[in-house]
Amino acid sequence: MTLDQLPPLRESLAEHDLLARKAFGQHFLLDLNITRKIARLAGPLEGRTVIEVGPGPGGLTRALLEAGARVIAVEKDPRFLPLLAEVAGAADGALTLVEADALKVDEAALIAELGAGDEGLVVSNLPYNVGTPLLIKWLTGPWRPASMSLMFQKEVADRIVAGVGDEAYGRLAVISQTVCAARTVMDLPAKAFTPPPKVASAVVRLDPLETPPAPALVTALERVTAAAFGQRRKMLRSSLKTLGGAALCEAAGVDPDARAETVDVAGFLRLAAAV
Ligand code: SAM
Repeated sequence: MTLDQLPPLRESLAEHDLLARKAFGQHFLLDLNITRKIARLAGPLEGRTVIEVGPGPGGLTRALLEAGARVIAVEKDPRFLPLLAEVAGAADGALTLVEADALKVDEAALIAELGAGDEGLVVSNLPYNVGTPLLIKWLTGPWRPASMSLMFQKEVADRIVAGVGDEAYGRLAVISQTVCAARTVMDLPAKAFTPPPKVASAVVRLDPLETPPAPALVTALERVTAAAFGQRRKMLRSSLKTLGGAALCEAAGVDPDARAETVDVAGFLRLAAAV
């Protein structure tokens, strides 16, 4: 069987008697036109190694394989493995299935063992319950993907791409935009998923900056942003007290009387460097 001979996704799910489980954050994309569009937005994928977290019924997996990617798909719910084995059978060796919790896998080791010789990228319709921790894992290393195209709840997507002054601006925006250029590339209504979640979703594309900050600086940035946004209504001289307060702000060229939400990414980077 080849990829184009696989049955429609709904039929595959019915054949394997599979229903979505809330505990695994399962909301499926069963329209291949949508999954192909996500693959296009993540591309070009020909000959590239893609890590996909949570293939589920395999709609996005099929689109990634059609686009010529070498896919390493990490799925925590073992019920989906027989269905996904059929996709692997039609993929001529281009799909490897890994039954694991994506929070715990060593992506660099998987890519070294199974990849196509490149550093690898991530394309995924993420489970909502672990989307943010996975993003932080990939932003802070040790493995940093060549790019990430990730489906989140719209509210989380907004917090990743927000600019200073936006209501959604906070830690996630600062840490994401210190390491990557981040933009929303696709919005999807809840009804595009089966079963539909309560809220809309969006795909965010993150591309690493040419000169990403050193890991130690990102660690310092995590401390500074946790303190500053933990008490976002307070002035920095007070919210950053344990890290150096007004003296730290002055060393970084940031107004000690400012509040976290008015400090841009460059300002937070200077604060982190001063810590
Ligand atoms: N990619 C499929 C699609 O677009 O139709 C399914 C997406 S669904 C939102 C999330 C998938 O992630 C489910 O298949 C779920 O079982 C899986 N999943 C949940 N938690 C996981 C984890 N910690 N590690 C790996 N997979 C996980």
